[in-house]
Amino acid sequence: MSRLAQTAGLTDIQQEILATVRDFVDKEIIPVATELEHRDEYPQQIVDGLKELGLFGLMIPEEYGGLGESLLTYALCVEEIARGWMSVSGIINTHFIVAYMLKQHGTQEQKDTFLPRMAAGEVRGAFSMSEPGLGSDVSAITSKGVRDGDEYVLDGQKMWLTNGGTSTLVAVLCRSDEGHPEGTAPHKSMTTFLVEKEPGFGEVRPGLTIPGKIDKMGYKGVDTTELVMSGLRIPANRVLGGATGRGFYQMMDGVEVGRVNVAARGCGVAQRAFELGVSYAQQRHTFGKAIAQHQAIQFKLAEMATKVEAAHAMMVNAARKKDSGERNDLEAGMAKYLASEYCKEVVEDAFRIHGGYGFSKEYEIERLYREAPMLLIGEGTAEIQKMIIGRRLLEEYRLQG
Ligand SMILES: Cc1cc2nc3c(=O)[nH]c(=O)nc-3n(C[C@H](O)[C@H](O)[C@H](O)COP(=O)(O)OP(=O)(O)OC[C@H]3O[C@@H](n4cnc5c(N)ncnc54)[C@H](O)[C@@H]3O)c2cc1C
Repeated sequence: MSRLAQTAGLTDIQQEILATVRDFVDKEIIPVATELEHRDEYPQQIVDGLKELGLFGLMIPEEYGGLGESLLTYALCVEEIARGWMSVSGIINTHFIVAYMLKQHGTQEQKDTFLPRMAAGEVRGAFSMSEPGLGSDVSAITSKGVRDGDEYVLDGQKMWLTNGGTSTLVAVLCRSDEGHPEGTAPHKSMTTFLVEKEPGFGEVRPGLTIPGKIDKMGYKGVDTTELVMSGLRIPANRVLGGATGRGFYQMMDGVEVGRVNVAARGCGVAQRAFELGVSYAQQRHTFGKAIAQHQAIQFKLAEMATKVEAAHAMMVNAARKKDSGERNDLEAGMAKYLASEYCKEVVEDAFRIHGGYGFSKEYEIERLYREAPMLLIGEGTAEIQKMIIGRRLLEEYRLQG
């Protein structure tokens, strides 16, 4: 067990779940991660193992066949998994966001239909807000859902769907003008559609095409895709929550828990980078001693470990706040911002400690170096987090009178 990133006050069940996941990561993920990543291969065996552990249903209520665990338990599991391989945490993250949105906002029929199969990992979720022309500015979405009798007809192009190919249920955010005349604020005229589809690429359902995998610098193994809708017909009962115009809020709620999740990933990747750095520093000798005995390297290790601790504490705090039922956008924004920035810095320091070998694909740190930047972008960039944090601070500290 590592000395860093311990969490006080966990129940016996939480500790048991985490110990099981950590063991799985050490035995089943770390030994194969780098090789699979270099081949950009989907980690089917690992995913099957996660299914067996029940991780796809970790936060889904027990009445729907899940484990009914808290966001904190989930985030701590994600931290462990990302320590092994960040792409694997990406595979469960969008699934988890869609399950969370269904649990919070779905109609009873939608919950009954999807949650039990999602808990078993049979239905796998992806969520889709971004488009080729926008990511941060969600209010500028152009994809449309137009009512036609008992159905909606969806048209538009989406971008950057994590699990776009492997998922079978995509929560797609579209503009819907039904009941929302021109001039309605953008965030009040958006709707989340629950789009079922076959896994794979090409035309996966009439009117719906998943063109293929986007070639990325890191975060490989997990598929990231575009999604093209052209006259895609969706039954009216597949509007999330049964009413149009609520999509923006539903998605933002999902993204808020997603931010805790990305913070947890940053913590996991940073921990692994620290482990690699501290180990290498004791093996490599220069000028007659282990480089760990040079003060400059010790200072690096000290800074890295402090960042790992700080990011973990903020991530845990943000998860606990959400679990208590309180608004956590400030804490989630801060945790996501800090954990992703620190992750990038800790990975860079571990890379430097490796000297020239850090540049070789034989060393795991090379993979981490290509993975960390994604965390600066996904679930809202650092600039967007700072906008959220700044706005909330001005609400909290508004001058009176
Ligand atoms: C690997 C990967 C997986 C992803 N998975 C998903 C997914 O599953 N579903 C999904 O919907 N999306 C997904 N995304 C998209 C991701 O959420 C967006 O890339 C992200 O929100 C940023 O949007 P953008 O790329 O359009 O950048 P832009 O919004 O164009 O921003 C470009 C730059 O401008 C800055 N900027 C923008 N607006 C402001 C402002 N007002 N003030 C100051 N600076 C600003 C940004 O911080 C950034 O530095 C994924 C992205 C990646 C890379």
